[in-house]
Amino acid sequence: MSRLTTTMTTRLTTAMMWLMGRGDEASCAEVARHLQSYLDGHTDATQVRRIEKHLEHCRRCGLEARTYREIKGALSRRGAPVDPAAAARLTAFGQSLLAAGGDRPDDEGPA
Ligand SMILES: [Zn+2]
Repeated sequence: MSRLTTTMTTRLTTAMMWLMGRGDEASCAEVARHLQSYLDGHTDATQVRRIEKHLEHCRRCGLEARTYREIKGALSRRGAPVDPAAAARLTAFGQSLLAAGGDRPDDEGPA
C-alpha cells in the first residue's frame, strides 16, 4: 500500500513539475513543439519568455529558430517556396526530440 502511494506521489510530482515547467525555462522538446507558434506570435508571454531563455544558451534550438526565421523571412519577402531539404530537416528535428521524450510524464498520452 505504501509503495503504491509512493508511486502515485512520484507520478503526481513529475506531472506537476512538467506542468509548471520546472522553473522558468523551456526544454528542448518544448521548444520543438512550440517554436513555430512562438515565431508566429501565437504563444503567450510566459511561454515566449521561457523559450527565449532556452534559446539564449541552446545552440541546437537556436539554430532551428534561426532556420525557421529565415524561411519565414524568405516567404514574406518573395513568396518563395520553402526549401524541401530545410523543411525535412526541421521536421526530423522536431520528431527526434519528441521521440526522445525524456521530459514528459508517462501519462501525457499521444501527442
Ligand atoms: Zn534546446
